Amino acid sequence: MKQRDLVGFQQRATAEPKGRIAPTLNSNLTTMENTAKLVIIGAGIVGCSTAYHLAKLGWRDIVVIDRGSLFATGGSTSHAPGLVFQTNSSQTMTRLAKYTVELYSQLESSEGSAFYGVGSVEVAYTEARWQELKRKLGWAKSWGIEGAMLTPEQAKEKIPLLDETKILGAYYVPTDGIAKAVRAAEALANFAINSSAAKFYGNTQVLDIEVEQGQVKSVITNKGNIATDKVVVCAGIWGSLIGEMVGEVIPLVPVQHQYVKTSPLSELAGETREVVQPILRHQDRSMYFRQHSDCYGIGSYQHEPLLVDPKDILTHKDSPMMPSVKQFTESHFQAAWQSTVELLPSLAQTELPYKINGMMSFTPDSFPIIGESSQVRGFWVAEAVWVTHGGGVGKMVAELLTTGVPSLDLHECDINRFPQVAQSSKYIWASAAQQYREVYDIIHPLAQPTHSRQLRVSPFYPRLQELGAVFFTSAGWERPQWFESNAKLLEKYTIPERQGWSAQNWSTIQGAEHLATREGLAMYDLTSFTKLEVTGEKACEYLQYLCANKVSSNVGKVTYTSMLDANGGIMCDLTITCLDKNRFWVVTGGAVGGHDLAWMRSHLPKDNSVNIADVSSSYCCLGLWGPSAPKVLSEVTDTDVSNKGFGFFTARQIYLGAIPALAVRVSYVGELGWEIYVPTESGLKLWDLLWQAGQPYNIIAAGVGAFESLRLEKGYLSWGADIHTEYDPYEAGLDFAVRLNKDEFIGRDALLQRKQYQSRKLCYLTLNDPSVVIMGKEPIMAEGKVLGYVTSAGYGYSLGRCVAYAYLPLGYSTPGTNVEIEYFGDRYLATVTDIG
Ligand code: FAD
Repeated sequence: MKQRDLVGFQQRATAEPKGRIAPTLNSNLTTMENTAKLVIIGAGIVGCSTAYHLAKLGWRDIVVIDRGSLFATGGSTSHAPGLVFQTNSSQTMTRLAKYTVELYSQLESSEGSAFYGVGSVEVAYTEARWQELKRKLGWAKSWGIEGAMLTPEQAKEKIPLLDETKILGAYYVPTDGIAKAVRAAEALANFAINSSAAKFYGNTQVLDIEVEQGQVKSVITNKGNIATDKVVVCAGIWGSLIGEMVGEVIPLVPVQHQYVKTSPLSELAGETREVVQPILRHQDRSMYFRQHSDCYGIGSYQHEPLLVDPKDILTHKDSPMMPSVKQFTESHFQAAWQSTVELLPSLAQTELPYKINGMMSFTPDSFPIIGESSQVRGFWVAEAVWVTHGGGVGKMVAELLTTGVPSLDLHECDINRFPQVAQSSKYIWASAAQQYREVYDIIHPLAQPTHSRQLRVSPFYPRLQELGAVFFTSAGWERPQWFESNAKLLEKYTIPERQGWSAQNWSTIQGAEHLATREGLAMYDLTSFTKLEVTGEKACEYLQYLCANKVSSNVGKVTYTSMLDANGGIMCDLTITCLDKNRFWVVTGGAVGGHDLAWMRSHLPKDNSVNIADVSSSYCCLGLWGPSAPKVLSEVTDTDVSNKGFGFFTARQIYLGAIPALAVRVSYVGELGWEIYVPTESGLKLWDLLWQAGQPYNIIAAGVGAFESLRLEKGYLSWGADIHTEYDPYEAGLDFAVRLNKDEFIGRDALLQRKQYQSRKLCYLTLNDPSVVIMGKEPIMAEGKVLGYVTSAGYGYSLGRCVAYAYLPLGYSTPGTNVEIEYFGDRYLATVTDIG
């Protein structure tokens, strides 16, 4: 079946099964196909879920291969205790889990149900955790999960084994529970088999993948070859080895994780049901627990990360238990056992007859890896996925393969999100180990890693250091967050002090830099921007097809635009500068560069008439912004930089002193000024030139902290937070950057539809109490209902209060409307306001 034949299956988000799926005997596995529409590698929960969702969307001719026996294959799914905690700081991960619970709840295999919705209890040992759990309840409300805070006594009512005197309270989610992962995998696979969509082959190993001219051609197995142009890698801890077959780095590492089961407990004597008590998390000790009939299971991350080279994973033949399980290491469990008997004293009476070091995948940022390789067409990946998200991830992959448009925003999971500096094994191992250490830690959204630093520094770096820059990292770049040398500005500007969460990884200096930019002049190191040069005789035509705005082909004009997906959602948000007739510069954020580049590459004309070069490292960039910017620039150039000579949204090749530069008159901070791009080797000279010229105007260097608060105050949006594929430009208030009357562009038809049925709008809110600072992701309420959540927030230092953005139903979007924002369990009044 051709992909375009699947148009009739494009109704998304309707793949939930109706009623229970009866277990069926598997198809004959002895003779394998030699051709397939698509091959899935791995029949764990992710491979089976992907096959199921493809079957639901009408796919046929799928082959699923696993080196192990079906369906207890010996992969991580085979031994996972299956705890499902849905609430996550990421909306996407929470919604993947929510869908997964709904799906598993409808499944059963020959062994019984695939999901037990017994609820979950997460306990707080410390005040910090108690506050964190309140924050978690906020996410639950934002993302549509039912949750509640419990007193210690209420927690004990749910789990009588708990010593409630040890805890301050708990967070409870009634719909969490236990997934029986092998049962779920089997039921999902059986649906795909019974609907004649897929054939499953166990005990079959993929040895290689043949690629021709950047396109998957066939899968080579120990039982024969299968010609296909699409594979989906669902190989769990073996994923990076499959990546190596085609030269694709899949950045994950298998990490050993301990799980044990007790002998029967007298308190549970006679209990034969799989699980009745809620699952339990004790994150202050990096542990979790579940009931197994009359026994208890204990999972622990409370040990140094034990990383495994995937090449060292044993084969089925050589593994004492199964390939994804290593020998239990007693020494790593001692502290965990102490923590166990402290929280659940009756477990002290038990023995531990079952003890494993299971292996699971960890990635550099703990998110899964989903999508098609931008190097090898037809090479799809669904890796580093927990059982908790297995149902949802299978659905997303199937949607991507069918229509190209998943029903959830997947940018956090995008296979293309890792810059090249994050693809070395050194980086991957260091960051995966750190993720393991921190898996249950309370992580501040601005917390900075200590490993793998200084991989990318701009040419201004020595000057930034001299000025006392406090560096935060993004996409491997070291970027100043604020400058200690600007502390002297605090004599001029009074910045309100903060307490608690919002005071962490923050300085009053950021506020002073903000105000100094508004009143005077600041230089910002913007070198981390991704800069893409698009050239070729059809370059303009190509960009017009990708962009919602009309891309100006007048040399020197700058266009701000979105690129949309086929559903009208905002895929990219960027500026395009016409440098020459067939030459354009696309500038986008550093952290989203890989994502945007992959999207653009995937739409390049086949006839090679357009080329994209990533010139990010060839040019540095400096933002010169503030009311004095024209005066200072005019002192170092002969070019007329007045409003008349150099208008907004225009760019010119000029000389600054003797340095050739591209000056682009745009601003993300809402002040006069330019982004100035020069060859990297001239960067230091540029810095010194402008710094010198700016002295009479009290020029300062300012950091990303001020940059962020300036943009928030002026209503500029951040892709990934305020806008992404789930929103369209009309909802986001970006209609000024859409031209429906130009030639066809991706997403136009869908956008026309969406425009008619718009029901929500991105609103600019200010908090009524000027002393309150929120951080983003908080739920917004009115009249007892959750209306939406804060997409981003920060203090507007010029405004003198906190600014928050949120999509609100149209009925609540009129300026003057009052709503409430919940932050750490407290409610604060906010008002919909015209942009400041
Ligand atoms: P797998 O189940 O490992 O499947 C991958 C398959 O690919 C395997 O069957 C393998 O045989 C096959 N394969 C690999 N290479 C090849 C090849 N070359 N040819 C053919 N086949 C190949 N998650 C939760 O959500 N909740 C939990 O409570 C939980 N607890 C856990 C406890 C432990 C101790 C561990 C280790 C993990 C736990 N996890 C949990 C994580 C979870 O088990 C995994 O993330 C999940 O099972 C991964 O599923 P998968 O389908 O990607 O991988």
